Amino acid sequence: MVGDFLATDHWPLTTILKMLLLKYHRRIVESAQHWKDRLLDCNDGECNGPSRAWRRLSNGGGSIHLDGSRYCFPECFERRLRQRFQEMQADEIPKPRAPHRVPLGLMMLSRGHVTNAQLRRALDAQQQNGSGKIGEWIQKLGYAPELQVTGALAVQWSCPVIKSLPLNTHSNGVPVALLKMFRMVPVQFVAARRKFHFAFCGNIEYQALLAIERILCCQTEACLTTSAEVESALERIEQRGELREKTFAGPCTPEELARITSSYARRLNARSVRTTSCVNLAWVRVESHSAGDIDLLFRAAPDEPSRAHRTEIHLAG
Ligand SMILES: [Zn+2]
Repeated sequence: MVGDFLATDHWPLTTILKMLLLKYHRRIVESAQHWKDRLLDCNDGECNGPSRAWRRLSNGGGSIHLDGSRYCFPECFERRLRQRFQEMQADEIPKPRAPHRVPLGLMMLSRGHVTNAQLRRALDAQQQNGSGKIGEWIQKLGYAPELQVTGALAVQWSCPVIKSLPLNTHSNGVPVALLKMFRMVPVQFVAARRKFHFAFCGNIEYQALLAIERILCCQTEACLTTSAEVESALERIEQRGELREKTFAGPCTPEELARITSSYARRLNARSVRTTSCVNLAWVRVESHSAGDIDLLFRAAPDEPSRAHRTEIHLAG
């Protein structure tokens, strides 16, 4: 290719060098970044430092980003991962505060959707059965249709209602297990503002939205819809069969979680790992240029009968 330039004309050497620089600028920058990523700036306080840099050079171990900071792989990375999982299990990650809400029953009473007697009977049924939300009991007893209950919920949560979800809904990079766990569906992604709109039925799970914001580096907005809409949208998403996620159920020590995550990072030749927690769930995204990203979901509680928590892994290769 240098020959192409030289053969074209008898240009001064500086002109040829400039043209080469322009032509290969991106490759040079990428190469420099590659070696910088591999060799520099471990953020672990217990890192052995310069001596490890030579070791990385000689054995190709490299480094990896964890939540935006670089660590030697695997030792420093695994040490920081263990700390991270310990923090999650100690519940040290700040949780968003749920907004103050007027009770749904009172809300529906004030809007004339139910009578005093109906609300009393729904509350009695809820108490006697020891389960279910008041909105569900109001529907079950036939006092109001689901859309009306959803409308009251939307007022309660100060968010809009969407009557029907788009047929081409897909997961947009959010683990399907997470969507099913919190009965939520991605409605729209506005790329210019990196804003995700999610539809919930019943409660809006703000912890899930915050976790999505952390992992996907985006903003989120919630709306409400009926449970029938959410269930059918989740089925459509699952039928697409493009899942790249693995759910682990049952208690694990921080050491085990770190070991599993590190194993995936090694296997996928990952460049970056992101972590967050949400209710009793640790969500880890392993990002790889060569093999694609995969989500690891660690549930603290044993698996429940719901098929929502039985997500299969579909790894390339
Ligand atoms: Zn290190």
